[in-house]
Amino acid sequence: MELPLVDANAPQVALEHLDDLWFQVGGTLCNLTCRHCFISCSPHNHAFGFLDLATVERYLDESVALGVKEYYFTGGEPFLNRDMTAILERTLQYGPATVLTNGTVFRAEWLERLRAAEDASPYSLEFRVSMDGFTAEQNDAVRGDGTFERILAGVRLLLDYGFLPILTVTRTDDEQDDGELLAGFVRLLQDNG
Ligand code: SF4
Repeated sequence: MELPLVDANAPQVALEHLDDLWFQVGGTLCNLTCRHCFISCSPHNHAFGFLDLATVERYLDESVALGVKEYYFTGGEPFLNRDMTAILERTLQYGPATVLTNGTVFRAEWLERLRAAEDASPYSLEFRVSMDGFTAEQNDAVRGDGTFERILAGVRLLLDYGFLPILTVTRTDDEQDDGELLAGFVRLLQDNG
């Protein structure tokens, strides 16, 4: 289904202030096809495409007058966008940036550049990596076969480059005990350093 980006009949209100600015840089394109994806992202969902560097730069410039304090990047999977590293390098000249990612497509050369960009910036760069369980059995049932190990490899690569990723966890079973879930993730993280 095509998503209407603008409602032509909506009243036009001038935006005077904005705290957070979100960019859907990955559009609806993702290398995964998670069962619970609320906008049905996939490698074949082209309903909304990538945002390029020039477009993001234009809105970064506009954001200054609106008082934006923080920038967020999502998709789809942001790192499928070939401009993503350059977009984050540029954003760190404006303010702190947070990327929501599935963690499965990082390349060392991108993280090396981003390490340098954060070191040169007064602002922070945060990665929020999604997982759906502290075992491969739980996670892969939602995210796809083999994704548990690929996500962990992505988390370890972020650690190698001095980033401290935040794991964003979905509760996938109504019967799941919250304490057990938390303890399972703590064990998983400790086992991975
Ligand atoms: S990784 Fe995120 S964007 Fe991609 S299919 Fe899964 S939930 Fe959707």
